Amino acid sequence: MRKLQMVDLKSQYDKIKEEVNASIQDVLDTTTYINGPLVHQFQADLEAYLGVKHVIPCANGTDALQIAMMGLGLQPGDEVITADFTFAATVEVIALLQLTPVLVDVDLNNMNISLERIRQAITPNTKAIVPVHLFGRAANMDAIMEIANEHNLFVIEDNAQAIGADYTSKDGSKRKVGTIGHVGATSFFPSKNLGCYGDGGAIFTNDDALAHTLRGIVNHGMYERYHHDVVGVNSRLDSIQAGVLKAKLPHLDTYNKARQEAARKYSEALGANPNIWVPTICDACDCHVFHQYVIRILNGKRDGLLAHLQGMGIPCAIYYPIPLHRQKAYLDVRYREEDFPVTNQLVDEVIALPMHTELDDEQIKYITDAILAFV
Ligand SMILES: *Cc1c(COP(=O)(O)O)cnc(C)c1O
Repeated sequence: MRKLQMVDLKSQYDKIKEEVNASIQDVLDTTTYINGPLVHQFQADLEAYLGVKHVIPCANGTDALQIAMMGLGLQPGDEVITADFTFAATVEVIALLQLTPVLVDVDLNNMNISLERIRQAITPNTKAIVPVHLFGRAANMDAIMEIANEHNLFVIEDNAQAIGADYTSKDGSKRKVGTIGHVGATSFFPSKNLGCYGDGGAIFTNDDALAHTLRGIVNHGMYERYHHDVVGVNSRLDSIQAGVLKAKLPHLDTYNKARQEAARKYSEALGANPNIWVPTICDACDCHVFHQYVIRILNGKRDGLLAHLQGMGIPCAIYYPIPLHRQKAYLDVRYREEDFPVTNQLVDEVIALPMHTELDDEQIKYITDAILAFV
């Protein structure tokens, strides 16, 4: 059996080596390291793939979120509602901009932000909602947009984990997640569904004026050379990373299919066990692109299972072990433990299994047999 890894980037690279190497070589040969033609070509390719008017490449996914919030003109003290159960980057940039993070609980069935909790958290100071399409699963965007429109709020999609996923609206129309809110942010961190070989990120929007603002912010607030109209940042996707991404983008749908196939096999093997909750596999659409395959262990044996699997050479991880409302940096007197029953439950039950584009049947069987034998 091939060595088990949480993410197998080497086997994936070996299959696309020629395309990727040619892209990188092109940057080296032309010395177009910054803002080269490959950055613009990748931007155009991604706009076409997502069906969005504007992609603004930047240095990483955390910057993408921050720049999106700067571009919307959010001001210190504005309240921004986001999920308690996510990676810290989401809340970090809210706090960094001196906005007020308002963490809310998530739903047990999909681990995404709870609509009911969003409604309860809205005050006259609320300015934005940041849904996270956690683990690759699209949040309920119809309902979130409805709440936002009703209360005149911005929606910033944290799409770092779900690039390529489709959201099907009530009217049957399909759109790529990240392009539904006022603005979307994504990450090209190597292990993400579309990963480069370093850091990278991008912001998406269909709003022409906002896109113009964002393009200035990523470039020191310059709209005309050496005229600094607003306070900006320096956040660029470098040409080598753009070259890698341009080579990988045509494979994204195949990669996401491979993830969905692996998820289906995991869920088929584990789903009948009463002590294991598995994510549902949707046959009709691509609403979940499985950045992570996360199950819940319902009989209190999660920590034991983690140690057992690691002892057998099966890598696995806890995303996320501590809810954000209990992280020292984000403690707030307004948070009460009873407002976060689901997150508090999830942190004790979740375990993420190896998930990447190169998993084979033998590996999946080995992993699921080991889990079933222990649980
Ligand atoms: C990875 C990730 C980010 C941050 O992306 P970086 O490129 O690492 O800065 C933000 N939000 C979520 C949900 C993520 O998973």
